[in-house]
Amino acid sequence: MSPYFSYKNGLLYAEEVNLVDVATQAHTPCYVYSRHALIHNWQAFAEAFKTVPHRICYAVKANANLAILNLLAAQGAGFDIVSSGELERVLAAGGRADKIIFSGVAKQSAEILRAIEVGVGCFNVESVSELERIHTLAAREQKRVNIAIRINPNIDARTHPYIATGLSNNKFGIDRYDVVALYKKIQATMPYCQLTGIACHIGSQLTELGPFVETIECMLAVIAELKRAGITLKQIDMGGGLGVRYRDETPPAIAEYGRLLCEKLKESGLEIIIEPGRSLVADTGILLTRVEYLKQTRAKNFAIVDAGMNDLLRPALYEAWHPILPVVQHSDRPGVLYDVVGPVCESADFLGKNRLLALAEGDLIAIAGVGAYGACMSSNYNARPRAAEIMVDREKMYVIRERETVQDLFAWEKVLLC
Ligand SMILES: *Cc1c(COP(=O)(O)O)cnc(C)c1O
Repeated sequence: MSPYFSYKNGLLYAEEVNLVDVATQAHTPCYVYSRHALIHNWQAFAEAFKTVPHRICYAVKANANLAILNLLAAQGAGFDIVSSGELERVLAAGGRADKIIFSGVAKQSAEILRAIEVGVGCFNVESVSELERIHTLAAREQKRVNIAIRINPNIDARTHPYIATGLSNNKFGIDRYDVVALYKKIQATMPYCQLTGIACHIGSQLTELGPFVETIECMLAVIAELKRAGITLKQIDMGGGLGVRYRDETPPAIAEYGRLLCEKLKESGLEIIIEPGRSLVADTGILLTRVEYLKQTRAKNFAIVDAGMNDLLRPALYEAWHPILPVVQHSDRPGVLYDVVGPVCESADFLGKNRLLALAEGDLIAIAGVGAYGACMSSNYNARPRAAEIMVDREKMYVIRERETVQDLFAWEKVLLC
């Protein structure tokens, strides 16, 4: 958890705002972010890469709220997007099109056309078919587009299998041994594709530098082969993936990660692009929720709270562990082991298991480390309106997403007229 969330006199604060006040004003469940935590993380990346030509392109999918995108755009961030929905979000938040990298395995024609129209900075291409489609559409529009090929280096990111993306059995990227021929083909036959770079992204929540080192070596080998073939590039995109500490992981610090990339890549003379998502935003947000019921069964103690897997999917999807903290500390009460569970009708609907907490019904708790892949993965399962999102800036709080209403949920549905 970022130091911008801390206890003062036994009460948990986001910056200068205590979370009891947030719950009173915004109700629960709600996501609460710290503006300064976000700026702090951004600056750590900017500092880590300042000695080399670089671009930091925030991976929008980690948290696509306009306020977050807007704050990062104001810092000079670029953006890594995976859909035209994310493209429109970035533009609406004041992000610059020419600083956008368009990634993703399934870019549709309409999405490609829109990206060409607004002039995105680069397409990171993931298949030969996609490349041909982009070239055809660019030719039709008479516009030259920047292209990087995302290589699949077949490297194990040593992370949860659902978020490993750099192995040859994953759907991502183009086999490392096929790319040189492909670059030659592009250069010879695709005049509307300007080859600017090479890209990769081997997975998320990497907690060691080893897989990054292996990937860099693979990328440099490909770049050397390309050079021998007379193809010189401008940019090397190392993707995102730097892990964060949720429990007892010991991921490299941003500075250490930056040092490694700068050292290994500065010789190449290429501009370094990175696409951090999780490591920029994970620790900048908590999910604030209230205990509805305490339920003791023969087997377990359950703390049933008003946030569920529809609000925060990571525990259900990846068995992810997030810190769970009382908003008001009660040192006088004995701690009990609880499974903290939500209202959704699934046994996967848990937020944490076997947590030692001193709880009473009505208490507020905070689930930490949810600034990334939290709100953006939420759903309306069980007809639950999505939670409000709040941004705290010193002693002020701002609603950056209103809580949905129940009417919102079925506003687009129609009954048969018979
Ligand atoms: C998801 C993704 C990222 C961001 O990954 P993090 O682990 O959140 O840093 C970056 N680039 C691409 C292409 C991605 O798909």
